[in-house]
Amino acid sequence: MGKASTRRRKNRILLGANTVIVRTGQHTVAIETGLGNKLSPKLREIYKASEMLPKSLAAAGIRPEEVTVVINSHLHFDHCGWNTVRSESGQIVPMFPNAHYFAHQGEVAHGHRQLDRDRISYISDNYDPLIASGQMALLDGHDPGKIFEIVPGITCEVFPGHTAQVMAIHIDSAGKRATYISDLIPTSAHLDATWVMGYDLYPLTCIEQRKRFYRRAIPEKWLVLFTHDHDHPMGTIQVNEKGKPTLRPSGEQM
Ligand SMILES: [Zn+2]
Repeated sequence: MGKASTRRRKNRILLGANTVIVRTGQHTVAIETGLGNKLSPKLREIYKASEMLPKSLAAAGIRPEEVTVVINSHLHFDHCGWNTVRSESGQIVPMFPNAHYFAHQGEVAHGHRQLDRDRISYISDNYDPLIASGQMALLDGHDPGKIFEIVPGITCEVFPGHTAQVMAIHIDSAGKRATYISDLIPTSAHLDATWVMGYDLYPLTCIEQRKRFYRRAIPEKWLVLFTHDHDHPMGTIQVNEKGKPTLRPSGEQM
């Protein structure tokens, strides 16, 4: 039986874990680092992680050593898994040895609490060794709309809902904006403001924050980058005849 029919039989869907690389001229920035290769055998079986990031970087001609900045929108394991790898001697080492890593302090604190609800999502090897070595800087302040400049042209903005301090990452260039919206809107199938996920810790906040995002992203025609959409990793958003946000089919005039 083919892979697609096996997925259907098991009631599973195909998702991406999309990393975005931005070259600013001064910096090579990696936004998110997928699931990594340190998952337990059980999680590896559940998620069928394809461990693609090193191959994808090589295919794009990017060496891990040249990445100068890594940004994690939040610290669920499917967003920061390749932050680190296990060396042959069993040490946890950075995948990007020359990068400054950025994550939100509230995510680290929440992960350390190891709550029944979501402790499985926080794997400390993805961030604690980087914090201990001083390679990861922690951002502070979780009011909705709080902005952090990471490097010129790249900012993080707090859009709570999925977690208390999940951040969108904005890339601004020549008057245009692309936004990596992370798990506030994980795929283009989640554009309806009320279609939130079981994973979301604060679903009502999520709905409000999606609406806040649309108030600018739709009229200003931001290019939206989706973390988990395998088939439509990016697109702009329009409002359809029923007043619902939908993905603008690619190739259509903006
Ligand atoms: Zn998440």
